[in-house]
Amino acid sequence: MAYEDKCIICDEAITNPVCPHCLERQVMYWVADRKPSLIPLLKSVGDSVKAFDHENTFCAVCGDDMNICPHCYCNEIYTWLIENEYPEMAREFLESFNFELDYKFDFKTPPTGII
Ligand SMILES: [Zn+2]
Ligand SMILES: [Zn+2]
Repeated sequence: MAYEDKCIICDEAITNPVCPHCLERQVMYWVADRKPSLIPLLKSVGDSVKAFDHENTFCAVCGDDMNICPHCYCNEIYTWLIENEYPEMAREFLESFNFELDYKFDFKTPPTGII
């Protein structure tokens, strides 16, 4: 059976097939507990990732087509939090949504001043 279960952003095999829509739902619950005012902002951050629309593999949660790995979605959110100076939330985000991000993106060495 031929199938392409690779993320079209990072070109890695998608080992944790959860689509950005399902991830976003979880992330938004998480954000609502901390800083609800960020919800619309983070939704638009996620939109850039969700805009990639091809059928590569299927989400384990909702069964939708997906082609972006959880790492890439989380990376967008994480990067946004860092760039907009929410280092505390960025650190908690990594703890809550750790799809092997540390190994994927070398997040074990956080940007200066975070921890
Ligand atoms: Zn990826
Ligand atoms: Zn899904």
